[in-house]
Amino acid sequence: MEHKKETRQFKTEVQRLLKLIINSLYSHPEIFLRELISNASDAIDKIRFKSQTEPGILGNDTEFKIKIIPDRKNRTIIVEDNGIGMTYDEVVENIGTIAQSGTKAFIDAVEEAKKKGGLLPELIGQFGVGFYSSFIVAEKVTLITRAAGSETGVKWESSGDGSYTVEETAKESRGTQVILKLKERGEDEPDYTDEWTIRGIVKRHSDFVSYPIVMDVERTEPIPEHEIIKDKDGKPIGSTTRTVTREETLNSMKAIWTKSKSEVTEEEYNEFYKHISHDWDDPLAHLHIRFEGTTEYNALLYIPSRLPFDFTLRERRHGIHLYSRRVFIMDDYRELMPEYFGFIYGVVDAPDLNLNISREILQQDALVRNIRKNLLKRLFDLLENMDAEKYERFFAEFGAILKIGVPTDYDNRERIAKLLRYRTTKSEGKLVSLKDYVDRMKPDQEEIYYITGENPFTLMNSPHLERLKERDLEVVLMTDPIDEWVVQHLRQFENKKFTSAEKGDLGLDKPDERKTDQFGEFFSFLKEELKDKVKDVKPSTHLKDSLSCLTGEAYDMSAYLEKIMRATGQKTEPVKRVLELNVDHPAIANIKFVFEKNRTDPLLKDYTQLLYDMAVVAEGGKVEDPSRFSRTIGRIMAEAITAEELMSGEAIEV
Ligand code: ADP
Repeated sequence: MEHKKETRQFKTEVQRLLKLIINSLYSHPEIFLRELISNASDAIDKIRFKSQTEPGILGNDTEFKIKIIPDRKNRTIIVEDNGIGMTYDEVVENIGTIAQSGTKAFIDAVEEAKKKGGLLPELIGQFGVGFYSSFIVAEKVTLITRAAGSETGVKWESSGDGSYTVEETAKESRGTQVILKLKERGEDEPDYTDEWTIRGIVKRHSDFVSYPIVMDVERTEPIPEHEIIKDKDGKPIGSTTRTVTREETLNSMKAIWTKSKSEVTEEEYNEFYKHISHDWDDPLAHLHIRFEGTTEYNALLYIPSRLPFDFTLRERRHGIHLYSRRVFIMDDYRELMPEYFGFIYGVVDAPDLNLNISREILQQDALVRNIRKNLLKRLFDLLENMDAEKYERFFAEFGAILKIGVPTDYDNRERIAKLLRYRTTKSEGKLVSLKDYVDRMKPDQEEIYYITGENPFTLMNSPHLERLKERDLEVVLMTDPIDEWVVQHLRQFENKKFTSAEKGDLGLDKPDERKTDQFGEFFSFLKEELKDKVKDVKPSTHLKDSLSCLTGEAYDMSAYLEKIMRATGQKTEPVKRVLELNVDHPAIANIKFVFEKNRTDPLLKDYTQLLYDMAVVAEGGKVEDPSRFSRTIGRIMAEAITAEELMSGEAIEV
């Protein structure tokens, strides 16, 4: 044999995760069965999909089923399938490690949550710990599997401590067998080897699994009259009943998406969601649709209640399951949902689909495109009509992902724009829609003012907004990196143009020309002093109380975008910005006075630098030379205070 028995250590993350699962999910022990059945059903889905292009792969093992074998005496329960199975490497890869990259961060988050009181089983559930949940009830788990097309099997075994063993073994047929050696049963604990306990769990959690879940059951039945042996008086000799073993199917295999809405209960919807999503929480909403017309199809879509912790766009896990006439074709069918709805789970059952074509060709298929269009339309309807509180929850979880649709889906841009929510300078911390903003615009206001940045608090108090606030104009505060692309692609909402509050001239009022002339020479001097940092020095159209701020020209990249680009490792030429100064501020007049008295006064250099640094600090940036910054401020404070105290005659001797 190629692989001798080996003992391997679990990756550290797995060990920590196992501990967490066992300690935190003890209150939901029965879900182990649902998870194992789900895995078995997925494995059958996979072989069935493969057999469409490789019919020989099934051999004569063509009757798909999942079998549960309880053994009361030995306290074991086996879940067995004739799905795709796993090779040696797949076992090590899938069962010995946790593939997702966010594992460590995830466990840290769970432990953090635990410290703060109470652990959230849901949090773990989102991560899909499926197989490991066996250890809630089992002291030892043995997995024996044989991959389709392989001659030998693999045996994996662990007691859920630090290590597991793995070796090659003989296995007669294709598929996977998971054997749980149950822990000592607690007083109030149900007996997982009991027929009725098992039936109850299967009914509750796995009724709609589309393959039969079977179990051998023993029944006492009357012996048929003609088989009974009787004595000469016609009295039966021995028993008139006998015990027989029958294989029974425990689930109804109802394809709930093909039923009408009135026939499906909320619980059934929720359980089905958990089955296809591997989530442990109920979904936020579902959409059950039957399309009738030239082509007919059914769809059942779900919005999860939370963004999975490990959600990344590239590694969406299950997505849309495609069926045709209730026969599973493939899961994670991305062509039916755009990236910005990548968190949606569901089933689409389209009888007219051509099954013999590849994913790539399906994508071009007119029917697929048509289904996609209709599903999107219905999803937008659902979201637009969702009650406000629920929608808020939706947006908090998925808003940032939804926004990806603005630059990527031209056809639905307007509908997505309607769904966006932002904080504004007047929303008092709440999120409002762009429609709300437009509805309460000032009568003569033509534009939607916005500002982008990281921190809503810094934005709220940004000097760029002083003039706008003075005129009581509302400003949208955009704090998602993707918002930069959202405004660039939207450009307008309900015919009102988006205008950046930190770029270009706000056009509110022109600075007094006489003043501009008076400051001309002084500003040229400042521009020369700061020529490495700014491209111009101008009288401000933004400021009212502050001394200075930095602005861009209308088509410049915003400061936030520049920061994002740099943070994501993209090379960008630093964009020089414009230093705007508040010519109505007495400090500017004073510095100008110093300049006019003596252009070589060393203080001038400090003041110039300070005007620039103050603009940087006000937008939450970092000054280049913080110690010089604080020294200059210190000195100016000392001078100002001394002057004041002197004037009131109470100077302090130092
Ligand atoms: P999940 O099912 O959420 O991916 P699990 O820990 O339950 O997480 O399973 C990990 C992986 O192990 C699965 O994705 C699958 O590839 C493999 N696996 C588990 N059970 C089976 C099975 N019965 N047959 C084949 N592969 C399986």
